Amino acid sequence: MALPAHIQLQIVTPDRLIVRDEVDEVEIPGSEGYLGVLPGHTPLLASLAIGELWYRKGQEKTYLSIAFGFAEVLPDRVTILARLAERAEDIDVERAEAARTRAEQRLAQPVAEVDYERARAALVKSLTRLQVSAHMPGRARVGELKRMRG
Ligand code: ATP
Repeated sequence: MALPAHIQLQIVTPDRLIVRDEVDEVEIPGSEGYLGVLPGHTPLLASLAIGELWYRKGQEKTYLSIAFGFAEVLPDRVTILARLAERAEDIDVERAEAARTRAEQRLAQPVAEVDYERARAALVKSLTRLQVSAHMPGRARVGELKRMRG
């Protein structure tokens, strides 16, 4: 059988459809590590971690922050059912920076008083959002300037 030329990508959360597009490559944050998918990939089902997902159409890459759920990979189709998914342009950087500071403060407290897993997940989510958002042209520099100003 001929290899499919493209991948039909769908990314949905419980609230809405985030992406429906025909793409050339997808990288998925699987709970066992990042998973690169090209057309013709072997079928598989993977659970999602908190991380950055990107897809490529020609030369252009699009980045999203993803957390929890499942990915179904078929030779010509990738479906991501994520609990959380945000496109880089929809990420509120100040909110993510505030979430990061809160999580870091919680993790710095004595262990018995902290829901460690929850705080760790909040930290990874906020760092992922900041990383994804930094792919937006101009955004990384704004963050850097803020840090320099203190
Ligand atoms: P916060 O602590 O800032 O409230 P959170 O990590 O508790 O964030 P989540 O439970 O991860 O929030 O997400 C709740 C909703 O808010 C989801 O729809 C998620 O996509 C959205 N969201 C959370 N943080 C951001 C952000 N920095 N920018 C854009 N959307 C966000």
